[in-house]
Amino acid sequence: ILLYGGFVGLLVAVAAGYYLANRALIPIRVSLEKQQQFVSDASHELRTPLSVIQAHTELLLRHPDHTVEQDSKHISTVLQEARRMSKLVGGLLTLARSDSNQLELELKPVQFDRIVQESVNKMQMLAEVKDVILHAEVDPAVSMNADEERLHQLLVTVLDNAIKYTQEGGVVRVTCRKLAHSVHLEVEDTGIGIAPENLPHVFDRFYRGDKARSRQDGGTGLGLAIAKWIVERHGGKIRVESKLSMGTQVLISFPL
Ligand code: ADP
Repeated sequence: ILLYGGFVGLLVAVAAGYYLANRALIPIRVSLEKQQQFVSDASHELRTPLSVIQAHTELLLRHPDHTVEQDSKHISTVLQEARRMSKLVGGLLTLARSDSNQLELELKPVQFDRIVQESVNKMQMLAEVKDVILHAEVDPAVSMNADEERLHQLLVTVLDNAIKYTQEGGVVRVTCRKLAHSVHLEVEDTGIGIAPENLPHVFDRFYRGDKARSRQDGGTGLGLAIAKWIVERHGGKIRVESKLSMGTQVLISFPL
């Protein structure tokens, strides 16, 4: 009986040990899988512009007698793809550093309303070119502790999307409201909207609703993933609401 009991005890101990070790390993395994997925997605995304650059350069080399004017189409494609790669690499670096907690925010007291207004002014030209009306209503005197550069990046990303995914004649409305303990920013557009089945994926890395359209507009599918990271690192919340063909609202709030 003693031997039997000892054997069962040993079995239970081994099983419990295995279970506990496995449980402890699950987060490591999940994060490793996520990391591998990230590297594989990143390589895939970088390969597309690289192939385009390679193909157009080969075409250029085939006609060394051509003038720059004759080859201008190929040259501008190479430039456009190189710019895309540079944007992609910038985004990848930000996310990789944020994953390994190497990216620190440079917090200092800033005027949030000024940052919103500056970002809107910066995007006004793009809206005009696209014939989109960009309106802003910003409550004054909103001070908070934040990383000014990251907030600019967040606003430009969200505004750029709103303008990019709105047809000409459409409207983008920015509202910034200060409450007692928080500030609420809303960027609302009358654009193409997002289908309900795609809405849960908009913050996923590399997710692009319409790959062809996003590529054409210089999109990388990293904008909202980085925007989410910026908001959350400031202790805030971000969510997207949308109706297909009606428009999209991006709602951001920060504690004050
Ligand atoms: P992208 O570089 O493709 O714009 P983002 O991460 O910024 O990548 O956005 C992810 C996807 O979410 C976009 O490809 C698009 O399908 C959708 N999206 C984001 N903002 C809007 C918007 N204002 N209106 C419609 N779709 C949007």
